Amino acid sequence: MSNRKINVTIYNEDYPDYHPEEVKEAYPNGIHGVLSEILEREDCLGKLRIATFETHREILTQEVLDDTDVLVWWSHKQQQEVDDRVVSMAALRVLRGMGFVALHSAHASKLFQKLMGTETYMLRWRVAGERARLWTVENNHPIAEGIPETFVVPHDETYGEPFGIPQPDELVFLSWFQGGEVFRSGCTWKRGEGKIFYFQNGHETYPVYYQPEVQRIFANAVKWASPVKRCCMVDRGGRNAPPMELANT
Ligand code: ZN
Repeated sequence: MSNRKINVTIYNEDYPDYHPEEVKEAYPNGIHGVLSEILEREDCLGKLRIATFETHREILTQEVLDDTDVLVWWSHKQQQEVDDRVVSMAALRVLRGMGFVALHSAHASKLFQKLMGTETYMLRWRVAGERARLWTVENNHPIAEGIPETFVVPHDETYGEPFGIPQPDELVFLSWFQGGEVFRSGCTWKRGEGKIFYFQNGHETYPVYYQPEVQRIFANAVKWASPVKRCCMVDRGGRNAPPMELANT
């Protein structure tokens, strides 16, 4: 594992017209505020940049994406209004090695769907403050380091199967909800040279990202998704290539 510092860019929608009191109460500094605090405790953190819906066109430039090792994404109400150019640039960067950590309703973001190759994001959901019990399925996975076999998130939005995702490469966490649903809540994929982790917990009205186990999973996921080298400048597209060695010599 590389000792290189990890440059992280967090996109949190933080839509200014969508601030009901309960969201402010759960996340007084925004979800990006607590996610930043979690990462700032890690020695390996390099540059940390924050983009919101209002600023994403200015912040998520090609230059910033090229200098980003892991892109974290939380979005909900403004998924469809995110700039398609930003989505295309970010998707290409993932294919060339940038890590991508998609949180909660980011399963319905344009970027996640583009990388998953699907526009369906079928799942059951309800905002009822139900209890979630998570199970660590891949105990030896780097994202599960320090996470117990099972733990409870006292209140969160319920998501339930069937979840319209391609089969994950690895299922790290599986959740059961109070209302009876089960959900593949921690999944990994590889797309091109990029590593992707989706984590279900973290509805904006429940202070889930303050929970130590969830904080550990998030920090682990950012480290896991970070590429060995920031290889964004290398275009390894198809090319007519001369032989490396001559035959019959
Ligand atoms: Zn939600």
